[in-house]
Amino acid sequence: MAMDVKGKRVLVVGLGKSGVASAQFLAARGARVTVSDTRSQNELKNQIPALLDRGIAVETGGHGERTFRDQDLIVVSPGVPSDIPQLARARAQGIRVIGEIELATCFLKGKIVAITGSNGKTTTTTLCGELIASSSQRTLIGGNIGTPVILLVDDSTDDTINVIEVSSFQLETIETFHPYIAVILNITPDHLDRHGSMEAYTAAKARIFENQTASDYSVLNLDDPGSAGLETRTKGELCWFTRKRELSGEQVGAFVRRAEIYWRDGKREEPIMPVSEIPLKGAHNLENVLAAVSVGRLCGCDAISIRNAVRKFKAVDHRLQHIATAAGVEYYNDSKATNVDATIKAIESFPGNIHLILGGKDKDSDYTLMNNLLRERVTRVYTIGSAAEKIRSHVQSAVEVLPCKTLDNAVERARDLAKPGDVVLLAPACSSFDQFENYEHRGRTFRALVEQFASPATAGQERR
Ligand code: ADP
Repeated sequence: MAMDVKGKRVLVVGLGKSGVASAQFLAARGARVTVSDTRSQNELKNQIPALLDRGIAVETGGHGERTFRDQDLIVVSPGVPSDIPQLARARAQGIRVIGEIELATCFLKGKIVAITGSNGKTTTTTLCGELIASSSQRTLIGGNIGTPVILLVDDSTDDTINVIEVSSFQLETIETFHPYIAVILNITPDHLDRHGSMEAYTAAKARIFENQTASDYSVLNLDDPGSAGLETRTKGELCWFTRKRELSGEQVGAFVRRAEIYWRDGKREEPIMPVSEIPLKGAHNLENVLAAVSVGRLCGCDAISIRNAVRKFKAVDHRLQHIATAAGVEYYNDSKATNVDATIKAIESFPGNIHLILGGKDKDSDYTLMNNLLRERVTRVYTIGSAAEKIRSHVQSAVEVLPCKTLDNAVERARDLAKPGDVVLLAPACSSFDQFENYEHRGRTFRALVEQFASPATAGQERR
């Protein structure tokens, strides 16, 4: 459903990666583009010249009231709250307000596989992409994972499968976005500071199904009440994945029987691979693999290519990634565990003797939810960052807490105290912005600190 933007006045709000890419895309197609960002000219000095060179008007340091008037279309970035007053007024004037995903998919050719969820999106999107590509189908990967979807448009063809990671924020600004396969991995509390309530957050995620019809597929997690509860919210054909139950009868999906993954097509079942061949740790990663097996099978990949792709898959950087062994102690980097649920999943991935580094910037989280697991499996918690005191008060009844303030201090103390066979795990349950630029910076710092006394376990390349 290509959109004609030639000669149209378009405002792009927010100059993140997808905003810059959208503005340039629109200008290249003859639109009269303005961009607006609340950051200062100085903060945006790297982005501005390339925009001005393409004839794009740039507004910095705030969103002017007039900038939002007299536009034919407004494209809003996922980092910009979609309910700011300027946008509300524009909508009231009848101006169409969409996000980059909506804009991009108006031009994108081929089929869309869209993946959302509170946790596991990037891992599953990457795995789905590698799995479909390995069966020799034309595959592109993008979205929240890194490459804005708008940058996939020129490479897409009618037979491309576009595997797209979508966040709840991106789903708030779709209109016609129509995935052939839509996956909701799980829904657990996250970003409630911006969505306001669990209902609003769930509703945003459920929009992934909004334009699906009976010839599309909706993939849901039977083991996750948040995801499974959305079964009535789609017109697509249901496809389930579950590691706890067996599917039967007319059910379609992936499940586990006696440590073997099976696919059921609604009539017959077929073995795909033993669970023991999955190279990723943790039950949550088994869920990601089951979701990817479902996507692969729905895209026509055969069992052998699925099995091979899963066996070759390496943890995406900063996601429960094994980085080193030193003096018999294993070091894992799960810097992307930025909420309590992801940290719980990380702890559950090891039987015990865990030295857990927690802390960073608090997101109004309830750390007491970890207490049972902390008591059972964690030797000691090492706290860092501005959330340290809150975390200590929430978990000290369950586990010994060692306040460390900084990551280098925490690594040093954990190294000194850990015994052969123990695990040192960075899975901080917080965002990183108090002490680091982002979770990648935190993860890289952790790795560098560990590599001062350990030789790396893996090649250590950044995939993304
Ligand atoms: P997202 O893109 O949704 O943030 P990632 O794959 O980047 O997901 O993983 C984010 C964090 O969540 C990591 O700490 C990872 O170990 C953990 N995680 C991955 N998959 C799942 C899952 N299915 N359920 C819960 N936690 C998960």
